[in-house]
Amino acid sequence: MKKEFEKRRRSLAKLIGKNGIAVIPTSNTRARSRDTDYPYRPDSDFYYFTGFSEPDAVMILAPGREDGAFVVCLRSKNPLTEIWDGHMEGLNGIKKNHGADQSFKIADLETILASLFMGRQKVLFTLGQDDVLDKILMKSFNAVRAGQRRGGVVPSEIQALEPLIHEMRLIKSKHEISLMKRAAKISVDAHKRVFKNCKPGVFEYQIEADIIHEFGKNGTVPAYTSIVASGVNACTLHYISNREKMKAGQLLLTDAGCEHEMYAADITRTIPVSGVYSKEQKEIYELVLRIQKTAIDSVRPGQTFEGLQSEAIKGLTQGLKKLGLLKGRIDQLIKSEAYKDFYMHGIGHWLGMDVHDVGSYMDEKGNSRRFQSGMVLTIEPGIYISKKNKNVSAEYRGIGIRIEDDVLVTKSGCDVLTKSLPKEIDQIESIMARN
Ligand code: CA
Repeated sequence: MKKEFEKRRRSLAKLIGKNGIAVIPTSNTRARSRDTDYPYRPDSDFYYFTGFSEPDAVMILAPGREDGAFVVCLRSKNPLTEIWDGHMEGLNGIKKNHGADQSFKIADLETILASLFMGRQKVLFTLGQDDVLDKILMKSFNAVRAGQRRGGVVPSEIQALEPLIHEMRLIKSKHEISLMKRAAKISVDAHKRVFKNCKPGVFEYQIEADIIHEFGKNGTVPAYTSIVASGVNACTLHYISNREKMKAGQLLLTDAGCEHEMYAADITRTIPVSGVYSKEQKEIYELVLRIQKTAIDSVRPGQTFEGLQSEAIKGLTQGLKKLGLLKGRIDQLIKSEAYKDFYMHGIGHWLGMDVHDVGSYMDEKGNSRRFQSGMVLTIEPGIYISKKNKNVSAEYRGIGIRIEDDVLVTKSGCDVLTKSLPKEIDQIESIMARN
C-alpha cells in the first residue's frame, strides 16, 4: 500500500511540474455537541496521497526539491494527548511509516510554506475550503512575493488543485478496485439481512441498526446515512429520519452502503414489507428493473451518463405510458419532461472514496464525458409516485422504487460489483417467503 501512495505522489508531481508546488490539507475535526466530536474522517484527497488519518495535517508536494518533494506539517507527539486520544505518529512517524521526506510542526506551517514557495512559479491549492488555512496560505504567498525585490523566482499565481487530483481519482487502480469489491460485498450482506428482517411491525430504525451492525462487524462504517424508507417515505429522495413502523402492503426502499478503508459502496433495493409485491408495485418494479438492466448492459468504454440518461428517460416514459400513468405522444412527453413527475434525478454518479465521487462529468468540450475502463459508477433509475398525484389511479400513489448497483467499467464492458445481491421479483419473494 505504501508503494501505491508513493506512485500517486509521483504521478501528481509529474502533473505539477518543477515550477509548481501543491498544498493539500486534511479535514478538520467537527464538534457534535459541546466537547464531543463526530468520528473523524480524513479528507479523501489528502488520504489518497498520504494514507495518513490524523487531523491537523497539511501535505506539501514540491517536485524536484533537494531535500525531498514530500513534506508534511502535522501535530508533534504529545504524551498527554496520547493518553486521551491514542497513538500519534508525530514528526518521526510520518517519515518512517508514511514516506515523508521531511516533516514540520503544524504550528510552523506559515513559515514552512513561505520558504517552500521560494523559487516556484505557481502554487496549486484549492481556496475556499477552510478560512483559517486560506489565510495562512495567502500570508505566506504574499510574504514571499513581498520579498521578490531581493531577486529570485516567486509564485505569481494560485491554481486550483482539485481538478488534477480528481482526474487521477476517477480512474481506479487494481488495489482500489479490490477495496471497492470488499465494500460491495459487505454492503450486499447488509442488504441480505434487510431482506431477512423486513416484516410488518418492524421499525425503519431497526432495519438501519441491522445494516450498521453488519457494517461494523466487518470493520466498516456507513459511507453515508442509510435511507430506510417504508411506504410513501420512499418518495422523499433523501429520507434519513428512519423512524416509522413498517406496515403490511408497503414497500421498503433501502439505500445503504459501507465505507471500507475509505472506499464506498452504494446500493438500493426496494422490497415488499410483507414478502409479496402487489400488482401495481410489481408493474412499477418491473419497469424500473428493466430500465436498470438495460442501462447496465450498455455501460462500456465510450458510453456516457447523458447517453444512459436519455435511454432511461425514453424507456421510463414508454413504460409509464403503457401503464396509463402518462398520457400523450412519447416524443411530446419527453420534450415536456412529463417523466419528471416520476423520475427526477440522474441515472447514476461516480463512486469511490466519496460516495458521490469526484471527477468531472464533462469533457474539455463540455460534452458528457466518455466512460473509460477503471471508472466506477452507480446505475440507479427510480420511479416515485407522489401521494398527491391525482393524475394516476389511487393504487399507484405513494409507490417509490429505486434499484441501484455499483458498476466498474472494464475494457470490454462492465463488471457489476454488487451483482450477488438479488433484484429479480421471484428471487426476492422467495427469499422473503423463508422469513
Ligand atoms: Ca444511493
